[in-house]
Amino acid sequence: MRWLSSADYFARLFMNAPNTLEGLRFAALEAVLQLAEVNPVHARPIFSAVQRQLVGEGLSTATGILPPVQRWLESDTAIPLTKMALVDETPSADGFTRKYLLSMPDRAEVESVQMGFPGRFTACLSSQVGCAMGCVFCATGQMGFSRNLTTGEIVAQAHHVERELRRTNPGERLRNIVMMGMGEPLHNFEPTMEALDILTDNRGLNIGPARVAISTVGYIPGIQKLARHPKRYSLAVSLHGASDEERGKLVPINKRWPLSELLEACREYSALKRARVFFAWTLIRGVNDSDDHAQRLAERLQGMDAHVNLIPLNATEGFDGQAPDDARVRAFQQIIQNSGLPSTVRQRRGIDVAAGCGQLKARKKS
Ligand code: SF4
Repeated sequence: MRWLSSADYFARLFMNAPNTLEGLRFAALEAVLQLAEVNPVHARPIFSAVQRQLVGEGLSTATGILPPVQRWLESDTAIPLTKMALVDETPSADGFTRKYLLSMPDRAEVESVQMGFPGRFTACLSSQVGCAMGCVFCATGQMGFSRNLTTGEIVAQAHHVERELRRTNPGERLRNIVMMGMGEPLHNFEPTMEALDILTDNRGLNIGPARVAISTVGYIPGIQKLARHPKRYSLAVSLHGASDEERGKLVPINKRWPLSELLEACREYSALKRARVFFAWTLIRGVNDSDDHAQRLAERLQGMDAHVNLIPLNATEGFDGQAPDDARVRAFQQIIQNSGLPSTVRQRRGIDVAAGCGQLKARKKS
């Protein structure tokens, strides 16, 4: 067994992408062990301890790891664990949603959310600290971009939610993951994909790939890469406008990647993956909630295997907009349904815990 410094491992394996034990895919863990002249057969119990038992700092409590390997893992020269501390936790009044604000050693903060019902719990994870996309109604967009999260930091959020779920709801486990927290996940493509590949590994948390949704505001290079990724994760695209002029006012990157190109990328994704694309439409009173908007949205999506999620706006302090009333939401949905497109009105669950993206952090700062 060689006791290389962790800097040596990272230099050899990750070049300029530092990572942690949580952020190692099974094959990468085997490669690290090989470099340390540890038999790669030990990768399975280590991966299980980190990704399934979620032992975190308590590596010494892990079962199935031989003592010499355990001592190596706990030594200064082995791979470090992700450092993430809980700063704030807010349960919703209905008890279904818990929002966590997590802090990293560089003082960057991200938020993760546990949502759902018994048997159907979901983790909503962040991919970046802040966001460069600048959607005008979004609290994270209003913060600006700080940095990308590493693979380990994305995985560690899911671990935190799963541990809390096990503690607060014994017998329950995470069934779904949505990349809908802070940041544009396709703008941080490799770490996000690596994290999801780890979380869907059947030697770890074993979330079904079909139960993973990646939300994008229309970052076309990422959609194209996702269409060619080996695993089939669900794609959720935020539209909010049915013309370039309307959409560009809400979603600045529409100027770089206009609607026609975005929908073409979605059609390609759907064809290559043989998968339905989910479109999100945030309903803002007097801005994009009229019958005419609904009609034009339906026309844009005709012929595509698409599902429309309608989301009444979560108001933020930095955007002067309101959600429409329930009757307007129902009328909008009826037009979508009449066109033959399936649709759902997403409940604004957890609104009392500021569960719109970036809102908890924004509220803590004020
Ligand atoms: S809605 Fe998503 S993509 Fe747009 S600014 Fe917010 S976090 Fe970024």
